[in-house]
Amino acid sequence: TPYPYQMEAKVISGFGRGSKELGIPTANLPVDDALTPWIAAIPSGVYFGYASLALPPAHPDRPAASDAAFHIFPMVMSIGYNPFYKNTVRSAEVHVLHKFTADFYDVPMRLLILGFIREEKDYKSLDALIEDINFDCDVARGSLAREHWAPAKGLVVGSPDV
Ligand code: ADP
Ligand code: MG
Repeated sequence: TPYPYQMEAKVISGFGRGSKELGIPTANLPVDDALTPWIAAIPSGVYFGYASLALPPAHPDRPAASDAAFHIFPMVMSIGYNPFYKNTVRSAEVHVLHKFTADFYDVPMRLLILGFIREEKDYKSLDALIEDINFDCDVARGSLAREHWAPAKGLVVGSPDV
């Protein structure tokens, strides 16, 4: 399947490893081989694109003036087994490039995956893992800022108010 990859699912609980405490919370999504067969087929690694969130009206991070159902944010996404944590099931986790003041579990998230950043790696230390993820975030921001990607934003439903 060619880019962009797209999916919609509700945010589920992850492995509870405290990614949030490390400053890099990841919104986990269900990996359903029937609904999203491409997740099993693409290389494990880090991807970038846009996430669109249907934040409920009461959510503190929802723009007050907006009545749009979905709101768009840039994101980095990990697909794979996270060798550092020795997972046996493939996971799909999205770090949204926005500082939220409240969680958004169970909220519908639409993803538009535009490109591949790097393959999955194992790490000697948690610090080395965090350092690489922060670099991935910079790569994603840098890529999405390029003129070339501007039209892609229109492919994901939502208002670009962030
Ligand atoms: P879990 O193990 O349940 O996935 P995490 O520590 O990875 O826990 O935190 C993920 C949760 O944090 C998400 O489900 C979401 O509700 C919330 N969250 C807050 N800010 C962000 C963000 N910038 N990106 C992703 N998730 C976020
Ligand atoms: Mg997580």
